[in-house]
Amino acid sequence: MLKIGSHVSMSGPDYILGSVNEALAYKANALMLYTGAPQNSFRIPVERLKIEEGISKWKESGCDVSDIIIHCPYIINLANTLKPETFESGKEVLRREIDRTMAIGARYMVLHPGSSLNGDVDESLKQVADGLNEVLREDDSVVICLETMSGKGSEVGRTFEQIKTIIDNVSLKDKMGVCLDTCHIHDAGYNLNDFDSVLKQFDEIIGLKSLYVVHVNDSKNVKGAHKDRHANIGYGEIGFAALNKVVHHPLLDNIPMILETPYINSQSPYGYEIENFRNGEFREIPL
Ligand code: FE
Ligand code: FE
Ligand code: ZN
Repeated sequence: MLKIGSHVSMSGPDYILGSVNEALAYKANALMLYTGAPQNSFRIPVERLKIEEGISKWKESGCDVSDIIIHCPYIINLANTLKPETFESGKEVLRREIDRTMAIGARYMVLHPGSSLNGDVDESLKQVADGLNEVLREDDSVVICLETMSGKGSEVGRTFEQIKTIIDNVSLKDKMGVCLDTCHIHDAGYNLNDFDSVLKQFDEIIGLKSLYVVHVNDSKNVKGAHKDRHANIGYGEIGFAALNKVVHHPLLDNIPMILETPYINSQSPYGYEIENFRNGEFREIPL
């Protein structure tokens, strides 16, 4: 079954119910949200998020709670080995996000591995795992999906090998997974025009069973540019045909496909992009 949706907003007064309504308006059957602003750690208490109303509506529409993906805030940087305060606050914020995710009833959380800055990359990868080991508890009902990164600046998680190194060093392996971002891996140098080979590499290095979320984005930059600038589907360097192949790939059946493409003239492109993928045919976005 094709599960496809987008990043949606989560804001008052309706919070999660509003997120669900937004996704349903796009005819989505998956969605991703941040439980608060991605760049800061201020959070509205879960009691005020209209969780029950939102989840009931989502289920009544035939959708599954496990296809509600939570993206952790970017301020978490467990990879920074130079500033212990950053590591400590990252763990605190991550712990709180895990609790918020469980309160929502969602399962999959997307986490950026972080940036090593001027620190040693291997130590940095090790520290990400250390942080996860300190934060994760046996009875947590979540899976932390490390996102494949473009390698902009000193980002870690820019290769499948780096992601694998982190997971190898985490003790509670059943709580670890991967989110594959098409823009990021293209920018990191992987060839989306030969996606079968990319998936084969992923399978050999990490294992396809660890892949729980896909971020479907076109890229404004050429392969290997290490930029991380998302483009609308069919308007970038990857193109509609290659991305359509990803979305409909038989090995990725039932994995939620999440769009994180930019708004066009302040309007959401997601309804159109989802429709194009469902039809398997590119039509210009009329915005
Ligand atoms: Fe992300
Ligand atoms: Fe992403
Ligand atoms: Zn990105």
